[in-house]
Amino acid sequence: MRYYFIEILACPHCKHFPLEHYTIEEVEDPVETPVDKLRCKNWCGLYSRKAEEVPIDRCRECVNREMVTGLLICNNCGRWYPVLDKIPRLIDDKYRREKEDKEFLSKYLSQIPEHVRNKMVYPPVTR
Ligand SMILES: [Zn+2]
Ligand SMILES: [Zn+2]
Repeated sequence: MRYYFIEILACPHCKHFPLEHYTIEEVEDPVETPVDKLRCKNWCGLYSRKAEEVPIDRCRECVNREMVTGLLICNNCGRWYPVLDKIPRLIDDKYRREKEDKEFLSKYLSQIPEHVRNKMVYPPVTR
């Protein structure tokens, strides 16, 4: 998931925007496209700031990096959504699979700092 994607995502449950992110793994993958074509328009998810407050040279960093594994977290309802294989899994409650969530947690929970875990309300995180 490119970080500029975050500005078009909202929580599938409560529609809150913007979602917070936590990166577990990312890759550098430079793109040829001029940065002004791809740069965040309203909200820069990488820096968690209004796009207008982010200098254009910082946008290059935002555009060239891609999250492989991580989390998107809704600060309104506490739902968290995995990003796996570069794809954000913004799944509504009724389609979530407990087994997949548990697999994700058993693999990555130890890499997620306490202050992020504390925001992950649903599905519940067993410590
Ligand atoms: Zn950005
Ligand atoms: Zn939400």
